[in-house]
Amino acid sequence: MSNKFKIDYVCRDCGGVLYNTDSFDGTCEVCGGSLLKINTPRIDPKSTGVPNICFSLTDLDDEREEKFRDQRINRGFDDSETWSLDYTIAEFIIPRLERYNELSNKVLERDDQFIEKIDKFLTAMKLSVKDIDDELSEQERCQQAEGLEVFPEIFRRLWW
Ligand SMILES: [Zn+2]
Repeated sequence: MSNKFKIDYVCRDCGGVLYNTDSFDGTCEVCGGSLLKINTPRIDPKSTGVPNICFSLTDLDDEREEKFRDQRINRGFDDSETWSLDYTIAEFIIPRLERYNELSNKVLERDDQFIEKIDKFLTAMKLSVKDIDDELSEQERCQQAEGLEVFPEIFRRLWW
């Protein structure tokens, strides 16, 4: 139990954080500065109420929750996020890509074709989320496939 969560340190000089350190020698690996123990316990991202950072699928009374909680605290996600990884990835992408659209529209001269492809991909992501609870119509399946096809064309251009 005592080794469950290894101690974290922050460097007084460069601000670097060392996670899960078990062979602590008192100096920062990056700059050699002195380290300060972080006394704040790690927070389970599932219990923060912060939206769009945790996509865990289990209920809090699930018998696997103790194991999953450890995974979330030490790794950032639990195994349940891989059960429907397409859904998890879509949930991660949608709010970020929508914000990307808002921000990049202000600073970039984007061509209509590129904007249209992003919209198609966004639609595909939203349909992937919908697909978890509802059967997609034939038309929606086509939209989803069309949106997924443009991903290679937009991926490397997603910057601003
Ligand atoms: Zn340092």
